[in-house]
Amino acid sequence: MLSRPVPVPERDGLRAGKAAGCNAQALLPGPGFCAKPGRNRRDRTGHAMCLRGNRDPPQPGADMTDRFSFALQATDGAARTGVISTPRGKIRTPAFMPVGTAATVKAMMPESVAATGADILLGNTYHLMLRPGAERVARLGGLHRFMNWAGPILTDSGGFQVMSLAELRKLTENGVTFRSHIDGARHELTPERSMEIQKLLGSDIVMAFDECPALPAAEEAVARSMRLSMRWAARSREAFGDRPGHALFGIQQGGVTEALRAESAEALRAIGFDGYAIGGLAVGEGQEAMFGVLDYAPGMLPEDRPRYLMGVGKPDDILGAVKRGVDMMDCVLPSRSGRTGQAWTRRGQVNIKNARHADDPRPLDEACTCPACRNYSRAYLHHVFRAKEIISSMLLTWHNLHYFQELMSGMREAIAAGRLAAFEAEFHRVRAEGDIEPI
Ligand SMILES: [Zn+2]
Repeated sequence: MLSRPVPVPERDGLRAGKAAGCNAQALLPGPGFCAKPGRNRRDRTGHAMCLRGNRDPPQPGADMTDRFSFALQATDGAARTGVISTPRGKIRTPAFMPVGTAATVKAMMPESVAATGADILLGNTYHLMLRPGAERVARLGGLHRFMNWAGPILTDSGGFQVMSLAELRKLTENGVTFRSHIDGARHELTPERSMEIQKLLGSDIVMAFDECPALPAAEEAVARSMRLSMRWAARSREAFGDRPGHALFGIQQGGVTEALRAESAEALRAIGFDGYAIGGLAVGEGQEAMFGVLDYAPGMLPEDRPRYLMGVGKPDDILGAVKRGVDMMDCVLPSRSGRTGQAWTRRGQVNIKNARHADDPRPLDEACTCPACRNYSRAYLHHVFRAKEIISSMLLTWHNLHYFQELMSGMREAIAAGRLAAFEAEFHRVRAEGDIEPI
């Protein structure tokens, strides 16, 4: 059992200059909302905002911090549970980050996302730089204020999506030039520009700019790409500079080759980051190959920093990753599935489009406490999906995000109690039973 907080050292001995306290805006109570009367006022755009420069000292128990740190609280085998502290709030790990691609988790209000138990959101640099533009978001007060999410935000570097979405991209040592998939406009992303964009957005956890090759790929190509990403990681570190309260994560690459993963981890450790991501997985290699890499990759990264597996995944992927030492994950799956009639439950996937639900008065999952399960029948969910009503996406996304967060909180409790193996056995037992019988 580990209980000692492991603060991330401030680089160059510099300390955060700004006071701890409420530094966020929220329309409704949520992370960072000022609960004290008179602390919030409406600005001209109708947003409730926290009055800056009028901060009270942190309340006892508020436990605010002006710096980024990670404290491991317990381990169970390779699995870990802990807390990442940021000036915008705490992130309980293992953490699942819902994806707010274009400054919204689709079909969800921010306070609803918070109600599912999410401590942090992910925003996409590629999408936000193209529309509405990072400079515009900065002029409007930053991404937290723009999208009304007061908690921590992690932004990706844009690299992955440039590779997968942009047209006519050209890769050089300096970076990537590409045409927007929206309007064909020409853009350039470099490590320096990615750091600048993520700073303009006001991201709390910034990702180093990297290149992520699709798998399968020849080992030589993976090695070349990984070494380019390590040179970009050093440039990202240099461009990020010293920003107390904000974290920069390096990204390990190397495909499914252990020696390349080791070389990448070594290069990142030499540069030094506040956290480390495992990149280049969940890109078509399959679960078995991914778990094969996760059997060794997390152990190559510093134990006292958060480890983030990018773009994962399905509930059983998440459980398998946490078991192998991963602390953070993100995936569009729960929200995307919610818009296509797919629900994720303890018993596996439920396709609400299926005619078997048309007369079913039972909830999706009788044990689930989300609004979709508490207040609506499978028959209703089936009907609104078939009728293409917007509430269909809202309810199914809420349920899916709630289920994913319940899974995370179940794992955190199990790791703390040293019973993750029993939790995993029960997870698989219930899933193997499958969905409830049709009526
Ligand atoms: Zn539910």
